[in-house]
Amino acid sequence: MDYQKLADMLFADVVKTPEELEAEFPPRGLPEGAVVSRMAPSPTGFVHLGNLVQGLTSERMTHQSGGVLFLRVEDTDQKREVAGAVETLIEALKFYDIRFDEGASVQGDIGDYGPYRQRQRRDIYHVYAKKLTAEGKAYPCFCTEQELSDIHAEQEKNKENFGYYGKYAVWRDRPIEDIERQLAEGKPWVLRFRSEGSIENKVKFTDLIKGALELTENDIDHVLLKSDGIPTYHFAHVVDDHLMRTTHVVRGDEWLPSLPFHVQLFAALGWKPPKYLHIGPLMKMDGDSKRKLSKRKDPELALTFYEQAGFPVRSVYEYLLGVLNSNFEDWRRANPDIPATEFKFSYKKMNPAGSLFDENKLRDVSKDVLARMTAQEVYALESEWAEKYNPEFYKVFTEKPEYSQAALSIGRGGKKPRKDFATLAEIPAYLSFFYDETFVPEYEQDGFDWQVSREDAAEIVCEWQELCAKDGMPGDGDAWFALVKQMGERLGYCPDTKLYRSEPEKWKGSVGDVSMVLRVATCGRRQSPDLFSVMDIMGSEAVMKRMSRAGEKLGIRN
Ligand code: GLU
Repeated sequence: MDYQKLADMLFADVVKTPEELEAEFPPRGLPEGAVVSRMAPSPTGFVHLGNLVQGLTSERMTHQSGGVLFLRVEDTDQKREVAGAVETLIEALKFYDIRFDEGASVQGDIGDYGPYRQRQRRDIYHVYAKKLTAEGKAYPCFCTEQELSDIHAEQEKNKENFGYYGKYAVWRDRPIEDIERQLAEGKPWVLRFRSEGSIENKVKFTDLIKGALELTENDIDHVLLKSDGIPTYHFAHVVDDHLMRTTHVVRGDEWLPSLPFHVQLFAALGWKPPKYLHIGPLMKMDGDSKRKLSKRKDPELALTFYEQAGFPVRSVYEYLLGVLNSNFEDWRRANPDIPATEFKFSYKKMNPAGSLFDENKLRDVSKDVLARMTAQEVYALESEWAEKYNPEFYKVFTEKPEYSQAALSIGRGGKKPRKDFATLAEIPAYLSFFYDETFVPEYEQDGFDWQVSREDAAEIVCEWQELCAKDGMPGDGDAWFALVKQMGERLGYCPDTKLYRSEPEKWKGSVGDVSMVLRVATCGRRQSPDLFSVMDIMGSEAVMKRMSRAGEKLGIRN
């Protein structure tokens, strides 16, 4: 067979040569050890945690080594494409701080190795399709859908492996005249790879995560170009990763079965394959057993879940770092104040079998992350989140920014910062008592137990109300506490908790009971951050109003 003639016939419009493309996309000239990697998602509109795991791994490897990370949109499967999906994807990744040095962006492509959207690279793929055809390594196949499904049915009946191989590869060795005839009749065709492999053979391969592998050689004449001239993923990624000078391919291990074919393709094209890192799946516990996270069953697989639930980007980021590199947690404990990007990420620490996703663990990490932030940082994140997801709270929260920031600053800093919330969605409830609009006092429920008699509670509230009205509250914590003690003592409450415990019969209760009344009156609940700080931030006038409201409930008439 005259393969050159066949190639010229099939790809008459291809004028560029592989040599010209090599010159157009030269090696990058980066220093030794610099990793070039990419994210190559398909724009299906669904961005999931797996994308982020993969993105994070490539991002760390490239940026830690002074290399390049680029985004390539793998849009060869038009059937699965959703309108606006590319933008959604880019935005979602940007949200998670996956910064690309080049590639597809909302503004268009950036970089010298593009285009970065596969459908725009049709002509490039055809140069190599022509080359493979001219070398007898690829051939056209005119099988109809029906013929292919007949082959499948026969293989099923004979209990044979599925696919286009051996005697089933009916167009593999057809004379050129047959091909010419079909072309003249305008019959659609796909381009197939002529595999020289056999399932009797094993290929040895070292995956950087999975280790040494022995895989069965590929004997199937897979499709390289579909009938519309668009390549399959297999062919496209080989051409792209070569020309874009990718050094490391990080992808899900669902691609592992195709690896022998990919290795064959690189060899057929005369190229050195990049290093591969196949990431194991994300799993979760379901009862006593582990299972893969599923799009249908697990809302937490979608990245939008984390944004809506109010997990800060940094929380998700640090959680995933910990999942991928188990030594991250120790590092974080030893270095609580430096950015997570300073951590030395290593793919060698990744679990070949995949990682376990645990929402409770994410919550713990997120509490730490939020506790380490400044009040201003939390304020900024909360404003952004609430504007989108809790507009009512957004209004009161952002009305007086300094007030809200002061409220968020209680218990922050120091060795043991408070950890009151794991998500931004929990902040409105945590802060609700700071704003009259969202203040819902528990004591207004029937049968509320003040822990001291109603008379005493009324007395405490009344006295504090007067103090606020007359002199205002002390602006100093010690003076404030001394006042609470004095007030309690007058009513028969021990000013010293220890002393109270040693002689409880002498007292009605302790200073703790007195401050609990003040806490409930001010905050409407029994749990709150440091009460002096709360009152100090709210100010005497607001506290006075709170006392008056509680007083009314306790039957005091002013
Ligand atoms: N488009 C493929 C996917 O979304 C990319 C796999 C790869 O990174 O090579 O799974």
